Amino acid sequence: MIPFLDLKKINQQYANELKEAANRVIDSGWYLLGDEVQSFEKAFATYCNTTYCIGVANGLDALNLIFRAYKELGIMQTGDEVIVPANTYIASILAISENGLVPVLVEPNLDTYNLDPALIEAAITKKTKAILTVHLYGQVNHMSEINAIAQKHTLKVVEDCAQAHGALYKGTKVGSLADAAGFSFYPGKNLGALGDGGAVITSDPALDDTIRALRNYGSKEKYVNKYKGLNSRLDEIQAAFLKVKLKYLDDEIKARREVANYYLANITNQQIVLPIVENQTSHVWHLFVIRCKNRQQLQQYLLDNGVQSSIHYPIPPHQQDAYKNTFNGSFPITEFIHENVMSLPISPVLELHEVAKIVDIVNHFQAPATL
Ligand SMILES: *Cc1c(COP(=O)(O)O)cnc(C)c1O
Repeated sequence: MIPFLDLKKINQQYANELKEAANRVIDSGWYLLGDEVQSFEKAFATYCNTTYCIGVANGLDALNLIFRAYKELGIMQTGDEVIVPANTYIASILAISENGLVPVLVEPNLDTYNLDPALIEAAITKKTKAILTVHLYGQVNHMSEINAIAQKHTLKVVEDCAQAHGALYKGTKVGSLADAAGFSFYPGKNLGALGDGGAVITSDPALDDTIRALRNYGSKEKYVNKYKGLNSRLDEIQAAFLKVKLKYLDDEIKARREVANYYLANITNQQIVLPIVENQTSHVWHLFVIRCKNRQQLQQYLLDNGVQSSIHYPIPPHQQDAYKNTFNGSFPITEFIHENVMSLPISPVLELHEVAKIVDIVNHFQAPATL
């Protein structure tokens, strides 16, 4: 069986260094907000080519804390609106609604699965304060267009980079393309910890200062609380693991690109719609997402031939029970996407003979005859 994602194989590559890192933390006697977190924050800020990085507990908290900090700084207020793609993973939307802000869904472009800049302005009202862009599946948004709209309407732009560590837009890394960015280090992400983790990236000193306090009970000085904060800290042990894995991120992205390019060049089945890559460096291939009208049969056919696949995502946020009666309007592009997408295995440790086997199976798939 070719698994959808083999995390054990990914981390085994660095087993010695990871064990060394764990031993260092165990022996240090210091497990939260110490040297490991500080040096990872510095390394990741440098990698993203920006000033500040704040390690937090997970990717949802990273986004959540950005909006919370904007509220504490008086830049946003309860009831203000944030534009967000309708087809994103639910976490992007949770970060907005958790803060008493109102998520306003905008349809994506069907080719890129990212926000369609042409549809953003129609969704802007007097209450709009920000655009949350999501570099979905690992491909960067059209940031020049989005930033120009934001500038015209005085909006903040926040990047959800949970799926796009290391992707480039016109030579600039994601995370430094807008006002602030949230990253996830969930084990399955392109830069994955061995547990939960996340980070906020920004070049705004006020945002950095506020989030640094908010992640630690709203306190800058022990037992002195400026805000009603959270407990959302990145563990020392996870920071130590992440520092090891960050060194290999660019090589892993290269390996993912090789898999993606092989799929793109060799999948010829006309029933499959392949992803559109705008530029080699703008996509880091967190997921390889195809569309197929008969996806259920294709998934079964792959499984019968020893290949796991997955769906990202089966139910759009506006149709989730959690957001029942929340969103007005219809989202036909989003619904079409959710009904047709499926994800083929992709990872830095997937071997070429495995990719070739998957391509062969996909190319042999025939849709069931319709009556
Ligand atoms: C994974 C993910 C998140 C949330 O990250 P966690 O670390 O799991 O909380 C947010 N947004 C997107 C697009 C994601 O894929």
